[in-house]
Amino acid sequence: GTLDKRTRDFVERRAHLLGPAYRLFYADPVEFVRAHDVLMYDADGNEYLDAYNNVVSVGHGNPHVVEAVHAQMQTLCTHTRYMHEGILNFAEKLLGSFEDNIGHMMLTCTGSEANDLALRMAKHHTGNKGIIVTSEAYHGNSDLSASFSPSLGENAPLGTWVRRVPAPDTYRASANDMGTWLAGEVSKQVHDLQRRGEGVAAFVVDSLFSSDGVFAHDHPILKPAVDVVREAGGLFVADEVQCGFARSGSHIWGYQRHDVVPDIITMGKPMGNGYPVAGVAMRPNVVEAFGNDMRYFNTFGGNTVAVAAANATFDVIKGQNLLHNSAQVGAMLKAGVESLARSDERIGDVRGAGLYLGVEMVSNRATKTPDSKLALGLVNAMRAKRVLISATGFNANVLKIRPPLTFTPAHVDRFLSALESALRESR
Ligand code: PMP
Repeated sequence: GTLDKRTRDFVERRAHLLGPAYRLFYADPVEFVRAHDVLMYDADGNEYLDAYNNVVSVGHGNPHVVEAVHAQMQTLCTHTRYMHEGILNFAEKLLGSFEDNIGHMMLTCTGSEANDLALRMAKHHTGNKGIIVTSEAYHGNSDLSASFSPSLGENAPLGTWVRRVPAPDTYRASANDMGTWLAGEVSKQVHDLQRRGEGVAAFVVDSLFSSDGVFAHDHPILKPAVDVVREAGGLFVADEVQCGFARSGSHIWGYQRHDVVPDIITMGKPMGNGYPVAGVAMRPNVVEAFGNDMRYFNTFGGNTVAVAAANATFDVIKGQNLLHNSAQVGAMLKAGVESLARSDERIGDVRGAGLYLGVEMVSNRATKTPDSKLALGLVNAMRAKRVLISATGFNANVLKIRPPLTFTPAHVDRFLSALESALRESR
């Protein structure tokens, strides 16, 4: 009711043209017209601090990426059916960031396509159909990847070959040994899949558990569960769309925080700093039969321009040591929010790794009762203060803070003052 006329007209026109399936952020939706590094500007020229957009992880409009895309677009834009050295040079670079037994890389346009391809491969390789995911996972928008994305809710039914395990929740953990506990949960689902004749093709994990509510473990926990899956003939697929490319601060890849090497790794979002490029890396044996029997072609996937974007983005991550920045600035951000939590019992938990933070809002610290209304109010209050964040988790009561990796200590200060006053005003 309080939206200005321009916004109301915009929202109406948008619904008229684009239909009902898209959602806008915020009670008072925002129209951005340009952005630079971690700052964004709306149609009235107001400046916003971006603490949410992980796609532009080396900064909005990064000049190195822009120049690489521009130059390649001007020179040659073709697909993977012609020889082009760019993709080979990039593949060498990217594969060099994984353990030695990850030997091949393939490119797609989106994370959904990457997960779709990973699962087609896993099913072909294992001869099994079953997929195990965490209970609020999101893995994509294609028919297959949506079928193992429980966060889409009950209106998007899971495949009958899909099983869920609870995410290893560090806040409400009931087990001391979370690795053993998770292996037990996975084992139950493996047995159920076997009983139904599906078998297990893959256990798919985002190791920062983004849509489950952001859980970052300070020691490895995944290996026992992966052992259970492998023993049953299934593969371990690490979905690095959110946690990859230095986001977690300690390793380029999220799974590297756990002492286990995946069979297949999927990646996307920040890979081209906004240019649509995503991909799959794998142990060579898992793609062998698929490659011979099925082939793969993706018109835009791995095109010369996409490769230029990915190559330049990866160079910036390495060249500017954004892994280090993610760790350093992420630690400052976390410490700052922890300090706010000391005088605000509505902050139940502050967690995360690198520049990926989850801040869980509760109405009662003792019972850990989720406070979705407060979280939503804070997201909107931050928007009014021109700082961008969102909320995640089953109850959407976990503030999701995930800025570009070029965030600086000065940006952290600006973020914390906004959060402090949003908290104060929400009392
Ligand atoms: N996996 C994860 C963990 C994601 O967060 C997303 C996107 N939110 C996807 C896969 C799908 O990626 P895309 O939107 O590029 O298809």
